[in-house]
Amino acid sequence: MASSIGTVRTAKDLRAQVAKWRKRGASVGFVTTMGALHAGHLSLIALARKNADRVVVSIFVNPTQFGPREDLSRYPRDEAGDVTKLADAGVDLVYIPGQAEMYPPGFTTRVIVQSLTDDLCGAARPNHFEGVATVVTKLLLQCAPDFAVFGEKDYQQLLVVGRLVTDLDIPVRILSAPIVREEDGLALSSRNGYLSPQERKKAPLFYQTLRAVAADLGNGEGCDVASSTGRFKLEAEGFRVDYIAIRDPETLEPLSGPIRGPARVLGAVYLGKTRLIDNLPAAPKNR
Ligand code: AMP
Repeated sequence: MASSIGTVRTAKDLRAQVAKWRKRGASVGFVTTMGALHAGHLSLIALARKNADRVVVSIFVNPTQFGPREDLSRYPRDEAGDVTKLADAGVDLVYIPGQAEMYPPGFTTRVIVQSLTDDLCGAARPNHFEGVATVVTKLLLQCAPDFAVFGEKDYQQLLVVGRLVTDLDIPVRILSAPIVREEDGLALSSRNGYLSPQERKKAPLFYQTLRAVAADLGNGEGCDVASSTGRFKLEAEGFRVDYIAIRDPETLEPLSGPIRGPARVLGAVYLGKTRLIDNLPAAPKNR
């Protein structure tokens, strides 16, 4: 059953409500989203509710993180449906700023996180992480929660947010939440709705292939061989592969040879026009 949920559209109103709660000694958790909410978003909210007295969720489709040829105009939007889902999920407040609230005339500041954003999704999507880092910085400063939850689904983004919060001394703790998947393994994403029925049928092969890469690494296969085997399999199935990469899980630095400790397998592929990303951990098997 939906409970009542407050909606605010300005940073001033958001800040006033959060300050009131914190003054009364309530802790506040924050989840930032671009809307079109699914069970992945709801898992972040559940984690926030477990850790905080009050939970705030933002919905803002951030134009600065989309490239000129990307899907900004057709990105799914369903404000009424989203607000109902958030009320059902026990969220206390939803923040839905408009463009002019986030980027008023004269806005020129950008937050750039170097090194972590040089490649992987940063290579294929120039300026994407600059847009993400800028909007996340603004949202965290506008809300000023005790902590914010980000999904491992966007693993590079999770590390970028951790880095900027540390580097800019933003007093917010960052929590991470595991990837929520469909029964067939496909990671939930607001973009999965773009897939045709045939593409949707094929899509789980992406996760299955990343799992096979992680298993090969666990068995002592070298990083280069494991990732090119994965790429070859996906290309043979009609995927266009942007990258299959094996990286240090903290720094995203490339690894080579057989892995000797924890690693992250990350991938980005296109099925038709739709870009899918996914990732999972790998570790050497104790033999
Ligand atoms: P988005 O609305 O795509 O910007 O995502 C908002 C937040 O939800 C980000 O922290 C994402 O990493 C997270 N998220 C998106 N999809 C999933 C998923 N399948 N499982 C867990 N978290 C997710």
